[in-house]
Amino acid sequence: MRPFAYARAESVDEALSAAHDGQTMVLAGGTELLNWLRLGVASPDRLIDISRIEALRVIEPLAGGGLRVGATARLNDVAADPLVSSNWPALQQAIHRAASAQLRNLATIGGNLLQKTRCPYFRSEDVVPCNRRRPGSGCAALTGQSDRHALFGWTEQCIATFPADPPVALAALDAEVVTSARRIPVSGLYVLPSAGVESDTILEPGELIEAIEIHTPAPRSAYIKVRERESYEYALVSAAATLELGGDGTIASARLALGSVAMAPWRLTEAEQGLVGLRPEAPEVKEVLEQALSEARPAGDSGYKAKIARGAARRALVTAAGMAP
Ligand code: SF4
Repeated sequence: MRPFAYARAESVDEALSAAHDGQTMVLAGGTELLNWLRLGVASPDRLIDISRIEALRVIEPLAGGGLRVGATARLNDVAADPLVSSNWPALQQAIHRAASAQLRNLATIGGNLLQKTRCPYFRSEDVVPCNRRRPGSGCAALTGQSDRHALFGWTEQCIATFPADPPVALAALDAEVVTSARRIPVSGLYVLPSAGVESDTILEPGELIEAIEIHTPAPRSAYIKVRERESYEYALVSAAATLELGGDGTIASARLALGSVAMAPWRLTEAEQGLVGLRPEAPEVKEVLEQALSEARPAGDSGYKAKIARGAARRALVTAAGMAP
């Protein structure tokens, strides 16, 4: 690991003035960043620790029924918040299924948005072709292990997926990332391979995530994670759904996002329209989801994930509706 300097910021202004030089990285929970330093994925001159800035840890209601979650709020603190459990169960479920309880005590909601892919070649301690890690070197996954890779939005530059759980729920909840410079919808935060592999997000150097805001309560929401083992495993596929039901029990509006199928949470916007007027448990829901997943373009050996994604989306919908899947 390359040596680096460490400093602690006592305020947002202090953090911003320290982070603008392009050689300083922000440290919050550290559960992901320290892996990057160990692997050489990142090698900054300096870390600026923002974990003690009280203003960035606050979880508070917004006027109109929304919620503002400070960027360095710990995942377990977010999940334990009574407003989250009553109004945004999809977010609580996504957090409970993310990492181990010990990690969730350290990891922050802002840091979780910035996880990097779990592609084994990207994380390899050996030098292997990886355009995302070593620009222009190629993509070892194209001819190698690719069974956990993308269904949507990939190019031959990179077929990796974004692995985190809470951002998928936040995308389905139409949440916004509030940075030091602007507001960004969570589903617009990420850069797909077609737009380049140099950066995972559209954040500029020195741009600090200060909070995540959710503007509308979504008590009918759910998150389903499919993984190879129940404890401490990244998703093969995940799905988040939010629903509003009409008086007759049919879907008045729906939002659906898939996880671990692209380098971003993947909204199924056409399916969302197609679900309106259907009962959540109706057979036609399966047809709408089949149509949405027929547009998947599996990379490598990941084709089996399309069927799993369809099932996860359906389970998320019926769970959000309060029906056992
Ligand atoms: Fe690297 Fe992306 Fe290829 Fe994985 S899929 S080896 S992250 S370029």
